[in-house]
Amino acid sequence: MDMIGVIGAGQMGAGIAQVSAQAGFRVRLADVSRERAEAGRAEIARALDRQVGKDKIDEGARDAALALIEPVDGVAAMGEARLVIEAATEREEIKRRIFADVGAVMAADAILASNTSSIPITRLAQAAPDPARFVGVHFFNPVPVMGLIELIRGLATSDATVAAVEAYAVRLGKEVVHANDAPGFIVNRVLMPMLNEACFALGEGVASVRDIDLACRLGLNHPMGPLALADFIGLDTCLEITRVLFEGTGDPKFRPAPVLVKYVEAGWFGRKAGRGFYDYTGAEPVPTR
Ligand code: NAD
Repeated sequence: MDMIGVIGAGQMGAGIAQVSAQAGFRVRLADVSRERAEAGRAEIARALDRQVGKDKIDEGARDAALALIEPVDGVAAMGEARLVIEAATEREEIKRRIFADVGAVMAADAILASNTSSIPITRLAQAAPDPARFVGVHFFNPVPVMGLIELIRGLATSDATVAAVEAYAVRLGKEVVHANDAPGFIVNRVLMPMLNEACFALGEGVASVRDIDLACRLGLNHPMGPLALADFIGLDTCLEITRVLFEGTGDPKFRPAPVLVKYVEAGWFGRKAGRGFYDYTGAEPVPTR
């Protein structure tokens, strides 16, 4: 598995390309255009520079990793890749189109993987060239920092596919957990109900933003409170994933909290919008209620 293809050079795709190159894989990086793929590589160069600045790697390692990353025009260049990881925008029709295009050029024994956060792997596999060689490989943001990969097995995913992608993940130095294809996989299945419950507690007047977050930080030893974490992830993203859990299971325990829905309707998406449960326009985040 010497060459990896990465489709989507955004936040996640650039991170996946970076850690793959740092583990010695050759990487072909594609996006909607050559310019976007080049921009992804430029982002990786900045990330590697920061690692040099912090003495985590030396300049030689930076240059070696960058030299392994080749921005390409489109999926046609993925024919030599043994593993192609799709990390494009979270829209099913975009991913299906990519699978059809890349499927036409991939080798008969190459593996296609998706970094989707929420779309069922078994359903996506229907658009892949071979569902047995299709798997979910869920990285966490920021990819170079986060040590976990969730491997998600669709109904038709073969043992050989899982083993090959696990070997790749281990070469990246990541810990692997295995999940079956269920809404939210493991991490979001456990996390989102907690963030959503914090929203219910806020909406019901149980406690203030400050006290809910402080309680979870000091009482649970969590590094961030749930409302601050929801703001960090993006309240729109939290709502989207909570809806996937709710609709995918039909279980009312996953219904989105009205406060979460209202904040998203107001455009208060959290940190990226300057306002969520905290106001981020000043020097320090200020709780809003
Ligand atoms: P992003 O918006 O930063 O990047 C998406 C990239 O895909 C963009 O550069 C876009 O131009 C590109 N793209 C769109 N259509 C394309 C096409 N047809 N062909 C090639 N490239 C195309 O998004 P992201 O945060 O990197 O998310 C990418 C995937 O990773 C999504 O499936 C998302 O659910 C998943 N994911 C995100 C996170 C996260 O925290 N951001 C974590 C885990 C998984």
